[in-house]
Amino acid sequence: MPVPCDKCNEWVELNDTRESPLKKGRMLCRNCFSDEYEVKNKIDEIESIQYMLDNNDPEVKGNRLGWKSNIKQLRSEMSSLGYDPEEYLR
Ligand SMILES: [Zn+2]
Repeated sequence: MPVPCDKCNEWVELNDTRESPLKKGRMLCRNCFSDEYEVKNKIDEIESIQYMLDNNDPEVKGNRLGWKSNIKQLRSEMSSLGYDPEEYLR
């Protein structure tokens, strides 16, 4: 039974859909799933860098600006995939 992808609206077989890693209950086609999976990884990475910065972790000490620019880079990669970082990050 074909169903529309919740993101791009392309019709796909129900068996080929996978649940969004970002939003429970949203069913995605293969392409949208792989995009969101990538975005999810970026979000996790941004949050862990932010956590280290907030706690002045030894790993980021001495190069805070470098790590901040990593965050900036990851956010802009999210944007180019069509995901607004403001919507997904605290
Ligand atoms: Zn899709």
